[in-house]
Amino acid sequence: MSWKIYSLDQIRAMAKLAVENPNTFWRDKANYISWFKQPEKIVEGEPPYTKWFSGGTTNISYNAVDRHLPSKKDKVAFYWINEKLDSKTISYQDLYQEVNKAAYILSELGVKKGDTVSMLMPSIPEAVYFSLAVHRLGGVLAIHYIGLSEETLAYRFNDCGSKVLVVASKTFRNDNEIRVKDFVDKVLEKYSTPIEKVLVLSRGYSDFNVKQNRDIIYEDVKPRGKVYVKPEEVEANEPATIYYTSGTTGRPKGLYHTNGGYVIALNWAFRAIFNPTENDVWWTISELGWPVWPMANLYTIPVMGITGVLFEGYIAYKRDLFSRIVERFNVNLVWSSTTTLYTLKSIGEESVKSGDTSSLRIILNTGEPLNVGAWIWLNQNLPHVRIADAYWMTEHLLPIAATPYGIGEIPYKAGSAGIQFPGSYFLIVDDEGKPLPPKQKGYIVLKPLNPASAKMWNDPNYERIIKQYWSRFPGYFYTGDYGYTDEDGYLYVLGRADDVIRTEGERIGTLEVESVIVTHPQVAEAAVIGKGSNILAFVVPKQGVEADEQLMNDIKTYCRNAGYIVDKIVFVKRLPKTKSGKIMRRLLKAIVANENPGDISTLDDMRVLEELKEALKNLS
Ligand code: ATP
Ligand code: MG
Repeated sequence: MSWKIYSLDQIRAMAKLAVENPNTFWRDKANYISWFKQPEKIVEGEPPYTKWFSGGTTNISYNAVDRHLPSKKDKVAFYWINEKLDSKTISYQDLYQEVNKAAYILSELGVKKGDTVSMLMPSIPEAVYFSLAVHRLGGVLAIHYIGLSEETLAYRFNDCGSKVLVVASKTFRNDNEIRVKDFVDKVLEKYSTPIEKVLVLSRGYSDFNVKQNRDIIYEDVKPRGKVYVKPEEVEANEPATIYYTSGTTGRPKGLYHTNGGYVIALNWAFRAIFNPTENDVWWTISELGWPVWPMANLYTIPVMGITGVLFEGYIAYKRDLFSRIVERFNVNLVWSSTTTLYTLKSIGEESVKSGDTSSLRIILNTGEPLNVGAWIWLNQNLPHVRIADAYWMTEHLLPIAATPYGIGEIPYKAGSAGIQFPGSYFLIVDDEGKPLPPKQKGYIVLKPLNPASAKMWNDPNYERIIKQYWSRFPGYFYTGDYGYTDEDGYLYVLGRADDVIRTEGERIGTLEVESVIVTHPQVAEAAVIGKGSNILAFVVPKQGVEADEQLMNDIKTYCRNAGYIVDKIVFVKRLPKTKSGKIMRRLLKAIVANENPGDISTLDDMRVLEELKEALKNLS
């Protein structure tokens, strides 16, 4: 896709235009998708009430599949691979047929325009087929994480109101069998939910129970010949997909993004960051439940008509897995969570050097601020690869700040998430909401006038969204994050505002101290919290390192040299993380203060709670 490369100043001007004249900025971007009926307006209303591309009708499945058939029938749409390196190849023609078959069965089950369908699946081609099938029928997709607690899953079924659930019988992760269907049976037995039909993808196994009148085995009903289901015309502002936030700072919030504007915004974002070429292969390392998976594999890769890689399993299952997969499919673009990049670093260079990675052009980080140490490591070990960053949130799925290499020669600054992303508009403000000049730390707020600002689910009168995001700083959307900009306009996210440590005379973002600790050669990961005005650090030593007094003192000295006094260090085997791999510092704070941690439904592994309590026993 040919493209003009802009200077930093020109990109700043572009960002300014996007804010001052969103009509002009977004008008031509409407052409990223095909419309049945062209939009009548580009933007109307003020946030959070804004509507985008009103009157336009479209269909995500049509955009992701049908429109590519004339030119790309035999092109690879997806490669699938698991941790054992079994793989499959799916062409755009296959995708078209499979999406139609899946849509046919879903419509037989009663799914129609506006209905929500829940999904619980690993990263397999069928997850793409069924998701696009939901969109083909004009339905609303709600993908849930495998591994949520029974209660949380039941809550989400009720919250999103889905009558149909699509589930894979099982998956494997790090060689463990995860029996998804059995788990769903338990949830549906124990809790009252709106789920009436469970469509099961057996994946070649039949060792699960089948409940009469509720469960349908897809392989039994799947049409044998070709079928065609007409894509529904859906208005641009209709909900397409429901996401729940990661639950890092509190109870996850349910939000929705739209069929028109959201897809357009994502396609703009990835043109600007990756600028994929026609033959690019793009691998997104993410589980299904994190918005990153659908953003890439449903709303961008097939909409652009390029090739994606679906990976099922655990990236550290084998030390060389990452680079072997890059080599196998000549991957050009990788989108990864921060935690996955840290995992590669902790495995060591074998993770990125075992296979031939010469095809790789860009690795994009998302999820948390990427610490300087990890960036240096990636740079040293993959010198031909550019490391990109994009800072966004479920509520706002156009990057807030990023390094848009696709449109410009953006110098990467280690520790920064990048520059103001054209179409977004952030500011740093003080406690009173007054904008702050560069170099001063404050709260990150937005003036979100773009089509990727979510609305809250089950919030028809906008009461919840206003209370949650618009009341802390009137006139601004509050991200909950803390940071500053430098004189070139680069944004440094220093952590969550709730986690800011108030020491004497200064406020310190968690990342400031953590990034110092992790530069210690014997440290794998670290999380800090404030206890009064003291700093308490939880440190995971590298494998094989003795967690002793010496190391503790060493780390303290490291921090002191950087200007931070760390009061106590607690060595732990691992940190408490959400399913999307974010450190749950509020849980650390609650355990230290012996308080109730609140909603921890997205904690990745509940066993970490006991481990932490044990580690804290020795802390006087
Ligand atoms: P919850 O809102 O439920 O507490 P969450 O904020 O972690 O959970 P997400 O929407 O998945 O839920 O994550 C968005 C947050 O992740 C941002 O507010 C920011 O703190 C962090 N984040 C995401 N990407 C980056 C990045 N590239 N650099 C720095 N921080 C990032
Ligand atoms: Mg959040």
